Amino acid sequence: MFSAIAKTDPVICKLIEGEQQRQNSSIRLIPSENYVSRAVMQATGSCLTNKYAEGYPGKRYYEGQQFTDQIETLAIERAKKLFGADGANVQPHSGSCANLEAYCALAKPGDTIMGLALPHGGHLTHGWKVSNTGKFFKSVQYELDAKTGRLDYDKIADLARQHKPKILISGSSAYPRAIDFTAFQDIAKSVGAYHISDMAHIAGLVAGKAHMSPIPYSDIVTTTTHKTLRGPRGGMILFKAEHEAAVNKAVFPGMQGGPHMHTISGLAVSLHEALSPEFEAYARQIVKNAARLAEKLMGYGFNLVSGGTDNHLMLIDLRNKNLTGKPLAKALDRAHIECNYNSVPGDTAGPFNPSGLRLGTPAITTRGMKEPQMDQIAAWINTVAENLANEDAINKVGKAVQDLCRQFPLPEEFIKNQ
Ligand SMILES: *Cc1c(COP(=O)(O)O)cnc(C)c1O
Repeated sequence: MFSAIAKTDPVICKLIEGEQQRQNSSIRLIPSENYVSRAVMQATGSCLTNKYAEGYPGKRYYEGQQFTDQIETLAIERAKKLFGADGANVQPHSGSCANLEAYCALAKPGDTIMGLALPHGGHLTHGWKVSNTGKFFKSVQYELDAKTGRLDYDKIADLARQHKPKILISGSSAYPRAIDFTAFQDIAKSVGAYHISDMAHIAGLVAGKAHMSPIPYSDIVTTTTHKTLRGPRGGMILFKAEHEAAVNKAVFPGMQGGPHMHTISGLAVSLHEALSPEFEAYARQIVKNAARLAEKLMGYGFNLVSGGTDNHLMLIDLRNKNLTGKPLAKALDRAHIECNYNSVPGDTAGPFNPSGLRLGTPAITTRGMKEPQMDQIAAWINTVAENLANEDAINKVGKAVQDLCRQFPLPEEFIKNQ
């Protein structure tokens, strides 16, 4: 399968094969990860990596754009159709780039931006202080209600009235509940702010109609392409027509040079997949699987932040179990169950060993797992949590996990041939 790499660089080849084997034989509960189709993988590994295409379709700085122009135009048209957006820029190299580019489109350095604080589920690039978004802009951060673990729209409105941000950011990396984008739009309007929504985590749910869309209620929507959306690693900016020139200038030449055309071609393929009826079924099953996993975990006495989930992810607050996130995440990894430790609202433990564990169902849903497998996975998580010092018990779970993985191999195709 990797014959050319094996010949040229056997060391790297072995490592890639090891990673492939690891992905095949573990249950991936990291909510930001997924598996792309063989078609997307081929497009991203194609000759498009050899081409410079600075500029936009029809306005490039290099010749030889007979095919790249068509590919990028198709990616844009498919993104607009899938999300019902006026316009799309498919060039951002990542979700983080897309965010800084979107802020630069609507604000100047030193202006105030307001987003959800990192320990409460916001992303670094929502203005957290170690991120350049928190250095180039004056950043104000809102938090979740410590009791309910939910967004408190009245408090966000108060903070917005106090600080008059230029940009109000909605969206999150670890919020298990539905987000009310109309409320964010109303708050932004009431203080004269732009509303930028970052749907990185939920883009696939939005595309599959399993979560409210932020598009009608936002000036700009940013996203990653590789999480629930199930495309190649990258970013994308969707915008209202009036922001087209500002967004496109902010991406190129504002922040980036040549677009990664191999990624954009993979994105075009994944958007084609996301426009299929199969994708809606996938998105709805992600939410059903998460609800079932959450219910079963609560049955084992795990506390979930906000008491459950509406979307693809959940956050376990381990404080009642006298556990912290890191040792449990490491033990689960030894049992071939991948997840990540995470802060919970009101956490007093540091970010390197916080009190929570973040789990999500997109990747296992892509493998075809459904409610019965969620019941098994919840039981295994409980067994590992109760046997942190018992390697035999952890190994036993690991064997069972590998058996399940063999029953649910990575699918290669997501849509039927038309
Ligand atoms: C993952 C994520 C990003 C950043 O994406 P990268 O491609 O890793 O830069 C931005 N915003 C949110 C909400 C995310 O979850």
